Amino acid sequence: MSARNPRNQYLRTERMPHIWCPGCGLGTAVNCFISAIENDDELSLDRICAVSGIGCTGRIAGYLKVDSFHTTHGRPIPFATGLKLANPKMKVVVFSGDGDLFAIGGNHFIHAARRNMDLAIICVNNFTYGMTGGQVTPTTPMEAISATTPYGNIEEPFNLPFLADCSGAVYVARWTVFHVRQVARAMREAIHKTGFSFIEIISPCPTLYGRRNKFGDGLKMMQMFKDNSIVMNEADTRDVGLDLRGKIICGKFVDREKTSYLDMYNIKMAERFGPFYEPYEGVK
Ligand code: SF4
Repeated sequence: MSARNPRNQYLRTERMPHIWCPGCGLGTAVNCFISAIENDDELSLDRICAVSGIGCTGRIAGYLKVDSFHTTHGRPIPFATGLKLANPKMKVVVFSGDGDLFAIGGNHFIHAARRNMDLAIICVNNFTYGMTGGQVTPTTPMEAISATTPYGNIEEPFNLPFLADCSGAVYVARWTVFHVRQVARAMREAIHKTGFSFIEIISPCPTLYGRRNKFGDGLKMMQMFKDNSIVMNEADTRDVGLDLRGKIICGKFVDREKTSYLDMYNIKMAERFGPFYEPYEGVK
């Protein structure tokens, strides 16, 4: 009799083997997500939705055995917004990559944060477009080699925690895939937080980003994350930008309270219509 992995119950095993390369950090990110949701009595699987865009990270939604949606490029946040507005009781998680969320999807990110839409956004940042051959993304560090920057990137990358913070996110954290316990804890906190929560997970893409920039294989990149990370909870997000070979400041940077979009909607409509207003609780 073959041994069964107890986590198979959270995965669409009929879709295995997955497409990810050896040494990729995406499997670890999925495992952390399962750690975050299993044994959580307040979270039943039928109350969680996972939404992804396109790219290597975008495959995650298809592998998780929850209500999940693999949407078009850059659009997981508007899709997730629609799900949340139609059924506010659902915990809606967006799982996508740096290219998807911050290039074509960048506009959606800042506006969902500004509105304080009640979503948990998990960005696996591997600094490149993996699925399409390793092009530069909005998070590729200066001087990094990519398929489209063969002489080194000359553009300043986004500092994602700062972007989330100044756009209005109520929860902002960054960890690497080396920090599995911290990632799982941050995911659990983000899912339970009311409002727009953002987690950046630094992850190796040894096949394209690591090889081109001479970081070695997935194991060597994990060692680099371990050696180069500094935990600074509550750090000023202006100071946590990333360089090609510099330190990686990790931690929970922001955790504040602010009225979410739907709560604000109900408050304002009740002010306007008084006792005639029935609070919106989703599509009947
Ligand atoms: Fe992971 Fe990079 Fe391979 Fe994509 S190309 S699966 S990001 S290692």
